Amino acid sequence: MTDVDVIVIGGGGAGLSAAVSAAESGASVLLFESEKELGGSTQLSAGLFTAAGTSVQKGLGIEDSAEKFFQHYMDLNHWVLRPGLIAAFCRNAGPTLEWLIGLGVEIPAKVSSNAHMPGLCQAGVEDVWRGHVPKDQGYGLVQVLAKAARANKVDIVLNTRVQRLIEEDGRVAGVVADDLEVRANAVVVASGGFAQNKALLAKYYPATLRAGDDLFVVAAEGSRGDHIGFGEQVGAALAGDGWGLLMPTAYLQRMHHWQSGFPPKSRIYVNDRGRRFMDEDASYAVSGGIIDAQGGTVWNVFDERARLALGEGYAHWNAEVVAAEAEAGRTIRAGSLEELAGKIGVPAAALTATVNRWNEQLPHGTDPDFLRHRTLANKGSAENPEPIGTAPFYAVRTLPAELVCTHAGLEIDEHAAVRDENGDVIGGLFAAGEAGAGVLGLRYVGGGNAVANALTMGRVAGRNAAR
Ligand SMILES: Cc1cc2nc3c(=O)[nH]c(=O)nc-3n(C[C@H](O)[C@H](O)[C@H](O)COP(=O)(O)OP(=O)(O)OC[C@H]3O[C@@H](n4cnc5c(N)ncnc54)[C@H](O)[C@@H]3O)c2cc1C
Repeated sequence: MTDVDVIVIGGGGAGLSAAVSAAESGASVLLFESEKELGGSTQLSAGLFTAAGTSVQKGLGIEDSAEKFFQHYMDLNHWVLRPGLIAAFCRNAGPTLEWLIGLGVEIPAKVSSNAHMPGLCQAGVEDVWRGHVPKDQGYGLVQVLAKAARANKVDIVLNTRVQRLIEEDGRVAGVVADDLEVRANAVVVASGGFAQNKALLAKYYPATLRAGDDLFVVAAEGSRGDHIGFGEQVGAALAGDGWGLLMPTAYLQRMHHWQSGFPPKSRIYVNDRGRRFMDEDASYAVSGGIIDAQGGTVWNVFDERARLALGEGYAHWNAEVVAAEAEAGRTIRAGSLEELAGKIGVPAAALTATVNRWNEQLPHGTDPDFLRHRTLANKGSAENPEPIGTAPFYAVRTLPAELVCTHAGLEIDEHAAVRDENGDVIGGLFAAGEAGAGVLGLRYVGGGNAVANALTMGRVAGRNAAR
């Protein structure tokens, strides 16, 4: 005897998407959300959604396909992901975006130069732009999905953290919440990641420990990793172990860049040899890996003119905070580049040559070594950076330390069904989003990877759970 057809654990992007699609398929749906409001990390996000072959791309005359998306996704992830699952994700991402547009999400067919401007932007390092930015960002996505859930009579219970799954006759038959048993034909685990759980980070994403005290978490409070316990309970296999998204950031930032602000445009990153090694504006699809390849920590070097040009109104990247950090000795400041090199322990001749070379290049519009001028143009930058030449000079320690999301979760197949250690499907159990693993991989495929995963696989999970 069941109380409801489908139970969904978690009311973020994956959970809401699963609930709406299950209800649209005719199922009665009960959704539990542990916090006082819906949304999770999805609500905090820019809502950037990566997808191929969409009406938005077509409106801009861009030819794309799920097959091209698949090839890019697999190549960037070194083919370590399961091709069948990734093909299903790439095939379903475009239709899911259209479904969202049909529900009321607004994404205009116009070029966007950043994650805050609705339209289409470059999500990562793809040749065809796939980053769809919705109006009102992640908040907008959650509002539209929540409205659709209510319209489809999804029963939403807030402030209630699911404690465990009920297992009966070798399949999942419901959940326990508030010490009460609720029975269903299928359960969708969509409880997000474990960014807020230090013990799970140490076990399943130890790279976060390398950031030491510089680590800061921007994921939602509810990201406690409950899915790992649910999985252990029923013998689910884990996937995505060791992966997540750590965005490169300055040690002085403690919040996402919308609040913390942005480092100076007229800056260079140098390694311990005093050399530039990357396009400083490279997508975070690849920049974390590039910095890791330098040993994990690099220096962001700029001058007094750049400090004074920092935008106002941001919590950390502003002229006063940088000056105060320099006064405290945490940001390194020096009267000359030679002195700065000595203080940060890089060869003075190399640092001086690096700055001289950059001054001859990017302030005049080209960066032959790292092609940063192309990235700046894609971001809508109209003016070249200034030369680095006005003392004092600054160096700010920079490393992958902003924890956005985690990738280790319950192994799912192309139907979003959870597999056990033998590779067999666990009856009645589906997972999606950060809780359902296999789509988010070794490399984050640019802005939009995680929201697209959550909403796409959530929709797949809901549809199949309803069956
Ligand atoms: C600041 C920020 C910006 C980002 N920007 C982007 C972006 O633009 N594009 C992109 O692709 N990705 C982005 N991401 C990542 C992306 O938002 C997330 O990976 C994705 O939205 C996760 O969706 P989810 O449904 O799996 O988890 P969530 O949205 O976190 O939802 C999980 C929900 O489950 C609830 N929950 C947890 N445990 C339980 C339980 N036991 N019982 C009941 N409920 C429970 C949580 O409270 C939460 O509401 C961003 C993340 C952050 C933090």
